[in-house]
Amino acid sequence: MATVIYGSEVSASIKSELKKHVEQLHNMKKRIPKLVVILIGNHPASMSYVKGKQKACEQIGMLQEVLHFNETITQNQLIKQIEVLNNDHTVDGILVQLPLPKHLNEQQVLQTISYKKDVDGFHPYNIGKAVLQEKDTFLSCTPKGVMRLLESIGYDDLSGLHAVVVGRSNIVGKPMAQLLLQKNATITVCHSKTKDISMYTKHADIVVVAVGKAKFIKKEWIKKGAIVIDVGINRLEDDTLCGDVDFEEVKQIASYITPVPKGVGPMTIAMLLENTWESYKRTNEEGEFK
Ligand code: NDP
Repeated sequence: MATVIYGSEVSASIKSELKKHVEQLHNMKKRIPKLVVILIGNHPASMSYVKGKQKACEQIGMLQEVLHFNETITQNQLIKQIEVLNNDHTVDGILVQLPLPKHLNEQQVLQTISYKKDVDGFHPYNIGKAVLQEKDTFLSCTPKGVMRLLESIGYDDLSGLHAVVVGRSNIVGKPMAQLLLQKNATITVCHSKTKDISMYTKHADIVVVAVGKAKFIKKEWIKKGAIVIDVGINRLEDDTLCGDVDFEEVKQIASYITPVPKGVGPMTIAMLLENTWESYKRTNEEGEFK
């Protein structure tokens, strides 16, 4: 039976470290790091994710602001708003909650965010720097969080291991494969055009799934003793959440598995806070946190 990796616990210890740093700033009456989240429209899932981010900032004493716009906002209005935030020295992190309404150009919006405040790590500058393994970048929060979970169970160097990533989105699958590769894993990336995904997952030591389909990965697809990381978040008809992995089945043969909820989700938020803290440290002119 697999050991369950609770991201909720790993993230709690990361947040408690960050809280100490922020408390120190409060005590010294220094400027406090600030995250601004832009939310467009009233999509229930987006609103709930934004609430989670607000709550996490509050928990560690970090400043946060949510700019909530009507769905009718134009591309130009949104771009102008981001430019204001780029020039606001009290703002360390800017996040635009995705997905955006169809009339908005997502790439143009994300590329307007200053790469120095791109705490989601979606700007091409940061993506490029991440591929080059340069330090002064922001890594995409979810894949970064997954890597921390692997570290938490002693898997820091993945030499000799075969990792299969199911899903190739720009925000999860692709950066995930990149980070696993940097830790020396041998990578296979599967997607909707892959023929017989189980042929790959069955031979994987690590499977990371980010597809967005409830209980997509079955027990028969997983090698005994594999590590299974479930990024997916799916809302079922009875309003409960479940991942892309059939948790009850797969936990019988995996060595480690993440649950949904309380798995990767809390890590994504912890990494967002960490990136905002990093941004603050980089831009702080006063020197003592450099
Ligand atoms: P996208 O919809 O952007 O990407 C989904 C990926 O899954 C695509 O690459 C797609 O392939 C692939 N896919 C879809 N159907 C199949 C299939 N039948 N077989 C194989 N591959 C398939 O989603 P995201 O990457 O943004 O998110 C994935 C999931 O992770 C969602 O449930 C989302 O809610 C969750 N998520 C969770 C986060 C967290 O913090 N826990 C953070 C971000 C996302 P193709 O490219 O060929 O279309």
